[in-house]
Amino acid sequence: QVTRKQPPLPSPLRFSKFFQSNMRILVTGGAGFIGSHLVDRLMENEKNEVIVVDNYFTGSKDNLKKWIDHPRFELIRHDVTEQLLVEVDRIYHLACPASPIFYKYNPVKTIKTNVIGTLNMLGLAKRVGARILLTSTSEVYGDPLVHPQPESYWGNVNPIGVRSCYDEGKRVAETLMFDYHRQHGIEIRIARIFNTYGPRMNIDDGRVVSNFIAQAIRGGPLTVQLPGTQTRSFCYVSDMVDGLIRLMEGENTGPINIGNPGEFTMIELAENVKELINPDVEIKMVENTPDDPRQRKPDITKAKELLGWEPKIKLRDGLPLMEEDFRLRLGVTRKN
Ligand code: NAD
Ligand code: UDP
Ligand code: UDP
Repeated sequence: QVTRKQPPLPSPLRFSKFFQSNMRILVTGGAGFIGSHLVDRLMENEKNEVIVVDNYFTGSKDNLKKWIDHPRFELIRHDVTEQLLVEVDRIYHLACPASPIFYKYNPVKTIKTNVIGTLNMLGLAKRVGARILLTSTSEVYGDPLVHPQPESYWGNVNPIGVRSCYDEGKRVAETLMFDYHRQHGIEIRIARIFNTYGPRMNIDDGRVVSNFIAQAIRGGPLTVQLPGTQTRSFCYVSDMVDGLIRLMEGENTGPINIGNPGEFTMIELAENVKELINPDVEIKMVENTPDDPRQRKPDITKAKELLGWEPKIKLRDGLPLMEEDFRLRLGVTRKN
């Protein structure tokens, strides 16, 4: 009997590449705030299959409930500090707690997530030939001495402070991305995300926009941390997701700042929330935490030129959209 050698079966990865533009996309941290909005957008394209891995530290299945059981969607409980074997074309690597309360809760775990987690996702990208995007952060600029911050600024970061697990962790993650790119030819993309807000943020997340909106709905007071003149620039989540997808599918590695250049002091933010959501609420000055950056605003020249991207939603238009979601979840309707 003649036995003929069979060609190897196509791996799922080669298979999806064969039917061009069918993409299998991994989103780490996809059960979180930004991740779940990214998943919604990716799932709108019928050619995409989406796999989410998440350990549910700060995310929840609830954020993805409309996709559970969808044939193009898969949700895996997994910690990125452990090895992961899947076959994908794209990796959006978001897994990492983003709120200071949560990333300071177990700082050693935060560093492991940033360093070992990113190393594992790069090892995965190398094995399967996937393109990988890291969601880095404006915190890599620390307490910046240059304002606004361009990508060329190297930052002013305390290496031994209570925020270092997060910001130094992300800096190492960026270094790993570039070393895998130079040493192994991995296709990388790095987004430096500035403060982002929108529906589905954890109500007790601890970040300023979610705190103020929840406080305004519950009747206050709005807790402005001293001195209150520190600034941030807030990007609505749909704009952020748009920027991340453009970066992934474009030709530039980055790092590229993605954020809204509209800059507000925390007192101004509190006044806006008060006016829009509950004019009766009190604004109260409270103690701050160490190493709080005094100012932050992205220079988005690169995003505009290289990605054709800029944010569309102004803070005063985004806040009411978030209010609606928070009222539903808190079960408090508007009086008027
Ligand atoms: P989030 O906390 O809502 O989401 C993070 C997700 O990662 C959660 O679902 C969490 O359970 C998951 N996760 C955490 N550690 C993990 C681990 N070890 N293994 C698997 N999953 C893990 O935060 P977010 O606001 O959606 O932020 C997403 C990404 O964007 C993060 O990488 C964050 O650093 C970055 N970023 C966010 C902001 C912002 O303003 N939201 C600003 C800068 C950077
Ligand atoms: N890795 C992974 N999934 C893969 C391939 C690798 O999680 O599909 C992890 C692996 O556990 C390793 C890391 O990625 O710890 C780095 O992998 P790489 O191949 O670059 O390095 P090495 O295994 O040679 O240390
Ligand atoms: N902040 C505040 N009140 C709060 C929470 C935060 O005034 O209830 C301030 C905080 O001091 C910081 C800014 O808001 O200056 C942004 O803090 P957040 O934790 O949202 O994000 P960060 O940009 O510091 O990561």
